Amino acid sequence: MLKDEKAIVVFSGGQDSTTCLFWALETFKEVEAVTFNYNQRHIEEIECAKKIAKELNVNHHILDMNLLNQLTTNALTRDDVKIEEGEDGELPSTFVPGRNLIFLSFAAILASQVNAKHIITGVCETDFSGYPDCRDAFIKSLNVTINLSMDKEFVIHTPLMWLNKEETWKMADELNRLAFVREKTLTCYNGIIGDGCGECPACKLRKNGLESYLSTREGVKG
Ligand SMILES: [Zn+2]
Repeated sequence: MLKDEKAIVVFSGGQDSTTCLFWALETFKEVEAVTFNYNQRHIEEIECAKKIAKELNVNHHILDMNLLNQLTTNALTRDDVKIEEGEDGELPSTFVPGRNLIFLSFAAILASQVNAKHIITGVCETDFSGYPDCRDAFIKSLNVTINLSMDKEFVIHTPLMWLNKEETWKMADELNRLAFVREKTLTCYNGIIGDGCGECPACKLRKNGLESYLSTREGVKG
């Protein structure tokens, strides 16, 4: 049934959203991608997203969300804020308040313009780093709110919600896209594509997940 329908993927060019894009391409008849430009630490992120969308022949919308940067101070949008993991009960310095609220709302407006019923986001509660707007309850609540606001029946899909990084790599592998995701996506806070700098929190999370997935896979084969 989903094979007849159209979807918009919230797409950053990172591991998670690229895996979601491949999932959507397998699941829906027609897929478009949307990337938000909010002066991320690295403009490479936008360029990386553009390149992937082009290679996959996916119609790609880039929306200017600089407003978000004007409102908040955090490590993803300001060079003078250091990337720090949150202490117990504290949010990390990479948290952008309201980001998914804003992004998914704009994605829904775009979806209504292009007649897409489905919205896909790579948010994940398992590795959510303390971000409240990555939680399942928030996404479900927002889905209801967006539908009420536009009198539509959008469905927000979160294929990674309950997966850890290891399982996200497994998903990419099952979609036959492990090498693509590994080599062409950008997760690193220092803007290095593929395996990244290896040192920042995003690289560490990605690398640990990949290593444990690859060792499990080898174990199964052996
Ligand atoms: Zn890194």
